[in-house]
Amino acid sequence: MQPSVLDQMNQLGHEQVVFCQDPQTGLNAIIAIHNTTLGPSLGGTRVWNYNSHADALVDALRLSRGMTYKSAISGLNLGGGKAVLIGDASKLKSEAFWRRYGKFVNSLNGKYITAEDVNTCASDMEYIGMETKFVTGKPEYMGGSGDPSPLTAYGVYVGMKAAAKKAWGNDSLSGKKVLVQGAGNVGQYLMAHLVEEGAHVYVCDINEGKLQQAKGKYPAIEIISNDDIFDREIDIYAPCALGATVNTDSINAMKCPVIAGAANNQLADENVHGPMLVEKGIIYVPDFLINAGGIINISIELDGYNKDRAYNTVAKIYDRTLDIFKLAENENIHTQLAAMRMAENRLRAIGNLSIGI
Ligand code: NAD
Repeated sequence: MQPSVLDQMNQLGHEQVVFCQDPQTGLNAIIAIHNTTLGPSLGGTRVWNYNSHADALVDALRLSRGMTYKSAISGLNLGGGKAVLIGDASKLKSEAFWRRYGKFVNSLNGKYITAEDVNTCASDMEYIGMETKFVTGKPEYMGGSGDPSPLTAYGVYVGMKAAAKKAWGNDSLSGKKVLVQGAGNVGQYLMAHLVEEGAHVYVCDINEGKLQQAKGKYPAIEIISNDDIFDREIDIYAPCALGATVNTDSINAMKCPVIAGAANNQLADENVHGPMLVEKGIIYVPDFLINAGGIINISIELDGYNKDRAYNTVAKIYDRTLDIFKLAENENIHTQLAAMRMAENRLRAIGNLSIGI
């Protein structure tokens, strides 16, 4: 039997979950607020045609918890939240739909701040912004930070360099064979950095159009088939498409010493695959650490957007990645666990500051 909503919240440590419905616009939303110790919860709004409401709830709970860790480890004064809107994005999205949703977000008085995510874009944020100020990721012409993908890709790039330093003693990616899985927004911006530094970039995607678009921009990349990608001798695997691609089968097949990519929830089961990577000697940069460029970018928008400040703040992912490697080594634990501990330590330390002026 499926645990109750409150039991599920209790298991993952959630503060609040809000269910919103509006038959007129077809809105069915779940806003999950995981933890506000460090500040208001911030996380994107995802529109997805879930198989069931139960699946949507699980997604909202897992994703919002992930945002708590991502902001905590990135040194941001933000908590973790996420919203999922249930249904077919192509049929649902309209001005009225977004404004109704914006009213619900507004009713939380800033405890949850929203942003873009899967199937949402800057212009949707513009509609939400007509009803609430608690929205980020607005277009640049409105003073917003716009598309977060370039900053996410930059964070992945510097995190990958830190992993190269750990693996080979210096952080140059020149001549390294890097497999980018997913030629989407982040994947393409990542390729730009890699090609510029002289890496040999292999790319795979299930969407031929995306591959051709990437090849048009970066002729030096090599498109490879989506099958048997781990049979190839590569130096770095950069998952930039889906989650759970680091699993028992893929780890058994992998020959690369480094995994560093943008996808969320890369480890199919962190308790199984974190230790398995250590055993195989594969250096893994924790996903919520390396892909935090987008949320860091958005946090800068809250203080008045400045692109230089955003890039300089994202660049800190390099040192943070090296810190995690050190912590993992000292405590003899896998890197995902080390990153979680570092985030939890900050949550505890800052949570204890409530005493005093
Ligand atoms: P995107 O949708 O633009 O790109 C994803 C690409 O992956 C698409 O081209 C898609 O065709 C491809 N793809 C899907 N299934 C695949 C498969 N089985 N094999 C190979 N390719 C496949 O998404 P994005 O914004 O580039 O994000 C990429 C990943 O990074 C996602 O997992 C996302 O959750 C994560 N992420 C993105 C950001 C951001 O700022 N955009 C921030 C943090 C994390």
